[in-house]
Amino acid sequence: MGGEVTNCDVLVIGAGPGGGNAALQSSRRGLSTILIEDHSEIGTPVHCGECISEIACQNLELNLPEEVISKRVHGIRVIFPDGTEKCLTEEGYVLEKHLFERWIAEEAVNAGAELHLGHKLQSMERVENDSFGGWLCDGKGDKFPIHAKVVIDASGVAAVSSKLVKLESDAPLNPKGKVVAGMQYELTNVPTDGYLDFYIWPSYAEKGYLWMIPKCDGRANVGLVTEDRPRAKKALDEFIEETHFKDLEQVLPPWKEKGSPAFGGTIPISGPFQNTHHDGLMLVGDAAGFTSPLFEGGSHLALKSAVYAAETAAAAISEGDLSSERMSEYSRLWKAEFPPYDKILRGKNALFDLTDEEMSLMGSCFPDEMSDMGASGKAMVGIRLLLRRPGLYLKRIVPAMLAFGYSRAKYYGW
Ligand SMILES: Cc1cc2nc3c(=O)[nH]c(=O)nc-3n(C[C@H](O)[C@H](O)[C@H](O)COP(=O)(O)OP(=O)(O)OC[C@H]3O[C@@H](n4cnc5c(N)ncnc54)[C@H](O)[C@@H]3O)c2cc1C
Repeated sequence: MGGEVTNCDVLVIGAGPGGGNAALQSSRRGLSTILIEDHSEIGTPVHCGECISEIACQNLELNLPEEVISKRVHGIRVIFPDGTEKCLTEEGYVLEKHLFERWIAEEAVNAGAELHLGHKLQSMERVENDSFGGWLCDGKGDKFPIHAKVVIDASGVAAVSSKLVKLESDAPLNPKGKVVAGMQYELTNVPTDGYLDFYIWPSYAEKGYLWMIPKCDGRANVGLVTEDRPRAKKALDEFIEETHFKDLEQVLPPWKEKGSPAFGGTIPISGPFQNTHHDGLMLVGDAAGFTSPLFEGGSHLALKSAVYAAETAAAAISEGDLSSERMSEYSRLWKAEFPPYDKILRGKNALFDLTDEEMSLMGSCFPDEMSDMGASGKAMVGIRLLLRRPGLYLKRIVPAMLAFGYSRAKYYGW
């Protein structure tokens, strides 16, 4: 480590949605904030289907500028293996996600944050005075070393701090979680009525799903997430070849100048980490394992967890208490707000225990519009299923049905 130490209240690692918002919220609370991003520009390569609900925008008080919106959409259409279609209508947006992330980072800078691109965190050392005094962070980039009272780790699936920081027992802050592969192409001239089409077709996407997410000018992201990582690209190619997407042109997305048209990334699916805070440290977004279990949306959760982290940092710094106990307020806040991961995961597992035929039967018992089912609607679905296939109850069909409900925007599904 060499060079002069840069001091700040809050160092945010990673300028994705979680990091951008953590920096924005910290700056708005009067904290001196540094936002660092490993890449030389924000938001690329895009690793997202790019959709976010109107409910998420309201919940986060995001007033999206027109240039980050690619298309306004009406909700999600779930397509079961036999082609049965059911809608979950709730308004939302398909973004130009890289522009959205740049906009949030710009808002953070306008609110007073410093942004440093091409800066990669590689080490964190505790600073001990009479008590814990923050983290001395080092890495690639000329602003390092940086002494921060609080570090907000928004490094996505890399979850960098959880690898750098050891607990007393020398165990890592969090054990390595499981991830799934997500991959997509941009296609053109894709027909759409303004819904996101989600295909639950396990023969292509094992324990995952495929999507058509419409964008402006006939563009669309067509992709999948699957637990069968080695087969992800082949399965997506087969899906396109064997469906109405077959003859549509694949293009490079606007942010990509050359190379393969496929783009994507990995998504954590082990659920929230056991520890999402430590002395002067909080993990937000994918770095904390926050993704919605069934359709794997993570932006809403990343953006909201960032608000809680900034709130906690501001209170802790003003009280001069950076201890893990003080930071535990952050974990308490997200646990009180985010939906029960285990319950939704049980539903997802129950869903994927069904055969294609059973899944389709379940789908056919749902009303055409699933968003306003209510208790009586759910009971009707149960009765229809009971009449048609009583044995399905033994396969935990009820949690499987509830997993769809929990994928709605108000439960941070998107
Ligand atoms: C194919 C695919 C489709 C998806 N579709 C959707 C969708 O439609 N809607 C939705 O809500 N979610 C979707 N998701 C999930 C969503 O993209 C993530 O949940 C969301 O981006 C998480 O935001 P984040 O800020 O936590 O992390 P990220 O967006 O991953 O940002 C992390 C940032 O940290 C930087 N970084 C990493 N390590 C370091 C380091 N050591 N130093 C400095 N910087 C570092 C990275 O370069 C990156 O910019 C999808 C994911 C995939 C893979």
